Amino acid sequence: MRYISTRGEAPVLNFKEVVLTGLARDGGLYLPESWPQFSKEDIQSLAGMSYAEAAAFLLQPFLGDSIDAADFRKMTEKAYAGFVHNAVVPVSQLDSNEFLMELYHGPTLAFKDVALQLLGLLYDHLLAREGKRVTIVGATSGDTGSAAIEACRGREAVDIFILHPKGRVSEVQRRQMTTVLDDNVHNIAVEGDFDDCQAMVKAMFNDHDFRDSLAVSAVNSINWARVMAQIVYYFTVGVSLGAPSRPVSFSVPSGNFGDVYAGYAASKMGLPVEQLIVATNRNDILSRFFNSGEYRKSGVNPTISPSMDIQVSSNFERFLADLYGRDGGAVSDLMQKLDSEGGFSVNMSLLNEGIFSAGCCDEEETLATIRRTLKDSAKLVDPHTAVGLAVGNRCRKNKDIPLVTLSTAHPAKFPDAVEEATGERPGLPKHMADLFSRDERLVDLPNNLETVKSYIKERARILTEA
Ligand SMILES: *Cc1c(COP(=O)(O)O)cnc(C)c1O
Repeated sequence: MRYISTRGEAPVLNFKEVVLTGLARDGGLYLPESWPQFSKEDIQSLAGMSYAEAAAFLLQPFLGDSIDAADFRKMTEKAYAGFVHNAVVPVSQLDSNEFLMELYHGPTLAFKDVALQLLGLLYDHLLAREGKRVTIVGATSGDTGSAAIEACRGREAVDIFILHPKGRVSEVQRRQMTTVLDDNVHNIAVEGDFDDCQAMVKAMFNDHDFRDSLAVSAVNSINWARVMAQIVYYFTVGVSLGAPSRPVSFSVPSGNFGDVYAGYAASKMGLPVEQLIVATNRNDILSRFFNSGEYRKSGVNPTISPSMDIQVSSNFERFLADLYGRDGGAVSDLMQKLDSEGGFSVNMSLLNEGIFSAGCCDEEETLATIRRTLKDSAKLVDPHTAVGLAVGNRCRKNKDIPLVTLSTAHPAKFPDAVEEATGERPGLPKHMADLFSRDERLVDLPNNLETVKSYIKERARILTEA
């Protein structure tokens, strides 16, 4: 498999290069040159497989000759061994023909674990045998940092440095990061806010000497391997509900468009998907786009589903590339317009034939949905999942087709909102029950770029000859 940039100007890469590169040099995102095709029989055969087997089977065509099939099979086994549910991504039923895809059984209780657990292993596999290393540097307002740390802890080829704003992440979020005591994990509490942290990370990426000498890399959601790993659960859950003989619909709580784009990829690969419902909170750029054809920035509004509080969706460019038949020039022009004019429009006729529907959900409806789901289905859901449930029910066209809402976080990750809605405070699952008594390790640093850079330089295990 070869990978091309959405903007068409960057070098064509293989799988290994694409995992290690992240953003393309022309500012675009990498995409597989074509979608691998799975026949009805192929899809049927998933029914007898474990999640790890299904992942190896479905993702093999993306790897080319970058990774040996037997090695990759071992990696999927290892990546998903740490999930507390044997099914890895189990399905529960809420109503007749209404289901929940539980993506939160990984080490940090959110769906990002599914992709990041595999990405951590990919780094080790692709680098360690060549004696190379990367230094991961990231800023977090809470969730992504812990999933990245869990994925990279103890990995020989990786040192990870995560900046968080001191005193401005919840205690659960902080402890999920700081109680990971592996030598290659470094938590930095910055005396500033999240924007200060993000600005420092950006400055480090723009300092080419620093970046090259430490082989600095990112694990954000534009990395192709993350999207790729998310394709798997659409297939496994679809098959458990009757695919490929019956179509299935999905409702996806969305922010950066990575998760729902993986569902789109699954449909392109042969899974019969009736509807893909893009569910947003008040930060509704995606919902406005699918309903009007206009993609326009607006400010970020903080909500009780904070992992979807975004201004623009970084993975959306991948979908645009498909919409425009992989015309890199057209995508470049649109992204230019987004920068210079704050937005652009596409012809609605391009969207009308597609499988997408979209809607948004305000805070009140989110809380009401958490309450109703507990009352009607005896299930506690987190606020992100509630957004998916509310919009899914509104946009659903055919009740005979199973509707699966992606449940992207465990309710215990957002206990305040869940308690406000239901009066019930969700407890941490058993394997995390001692989180508040575990030892923490972190360092407080001032909001000063040079100080943070020297801290990282002194601790990254740089290899002299790359
Ligand atoms: C990241 C995240 C989302 C949004 O996923 P995207 O791929 O960015 O659309 C939804 N819910 C939770 C809990 C998340 O952590």
